[in-house]
Amino acid sequence: MVGFICHICGYAGINQLPWGIDGKSPSFDVCACCGAEYGIDDLTKLGLLHYQREWLSNGGKWFAQHEKPNKWDLIDQMGNINTIEKSYLPYYLK
Ligand SMILES: [Zn+2]
Repeated sequence: MVGFICHICGYAGINQLPWGIDGKSPSFDVCACCGAEYGIDDLTKLGLLHYQREWLSNGGKWFAQHEKPNKWDLIDQMGNINTIEKSYLPYYLK
């Protein structure tokens, strides 16, 4: 599955930009992998880092198990975060 990338967990199957094209319009979609709700769990940079740390410290488990790819590697996926185009990030990360 290829789509937009979650800036919290790196999952690349997001249907629409988490924060819109302007980086200021959260979709309020829930990431199938980390379970973050864009605009709520990542409202601020601190909130994002807190959510990400909590998710990872709980083992980085899939939120929607049925959408988990057969071949999945957390570390590989987290690497996707660095490949996100700057313009696709929330305004506070641009
Ligand atoms: Zn995610």
